[in-house]
Amino acid sequence: MIKIQNLHKRFGNNEVLKGIDLEINHGEVVVVIGPSGSGKSTLLRCLNYLETPDKGILAINGFQVNAEKVHKQEIRNIRKSSAMVFQSYNLFKNKTALENITEALTTVKKMSKSEAETVGEALLTQVGLLEKRNQYPSCLSGGQQQRIGIARAMAVNPHVILFDEPTSALDPELVGEVLSVIRSLAEKHMTMIIVTHEMGFAREVADRVIFMDHGVVVEQGTPDEIFCTPKHERTQKFLKQII
Ligand code: ADP
Ligand code: MG
Repeated sequence: MIKIQNLHKRFGNNEVLKGIDLEINHGEVVVVIGPSGSGKSTLLRCLNYLETPDKGILAINGFQVNAEKVHKQEIRNIRKSSAMVFQSYNLFKNKTALENITEALTTVKKMSKSEAETVGEALLTQVGLLEKRNQYPSCLSGGQQQRIGIARAMAVNPHVILFDEPTSALDPELVGEVLSVIRSLAEKHMTMIIVTHEMGFAREVADRVIFMDHGVVVEQGTPDEIFCTPKHERTQKFLKQII
């Protein structure tokens, strides 16, 4: 469903993505691990066209973009195919929990306010926060804010949700509630790409683990293959440092 071919991205002299090739199936949960600065966030941001890749072909669910000759409409289609969940939640501070979710539904999807609220309330229920519908982000815990962030990502019905370290800004006691929402999406076969340092969670939820270093995919495989029998020295070294 997702095909990434020879994706390149540089910032000035810093070549951050050096030709990434990946294929991801519908319903697959792919976890991306790797050292800080290896290009994980940039990869996710290029998939959503938050960053413009220099070279490469991206295809999501039939929509395709060739970075070297793009049309505005193609970028719009690719953007709509995915939704991003950020480490820092990025909620609208001046909107309630419910409004954060309905915003894209009324503006992008052109739903009526009442239609959007029905969808929004169903999503709040899914993430266990219906009773917080009228609260502003500043009155919610980090874990609750991130669960709203996930509900907001789900609202636009994306083909894939991209998670960039969704729990790394959270106090340890709040990590579990966010992971359990992501786990429930995995059970529903939502296609997801998750950058995380939560290795236990990665093992449990991933269909496939990808190890990135210095802008390349060094190694990929099942969680058992990557965590128990990593082939590459760089993967072994990275896992030794963090586990
Ligand atoms: P990771 O998420 O794996 O930690 P990133 O994708 O955030 O890695 O960053 C990879 C490299 O790209 C780093 O060297 C970082 O400094 C650089 N980088 C990321 N975003 C930008 C940007 N907007 N401008 C300049 N350099 C950037
Ligand atoms: Mg990052």
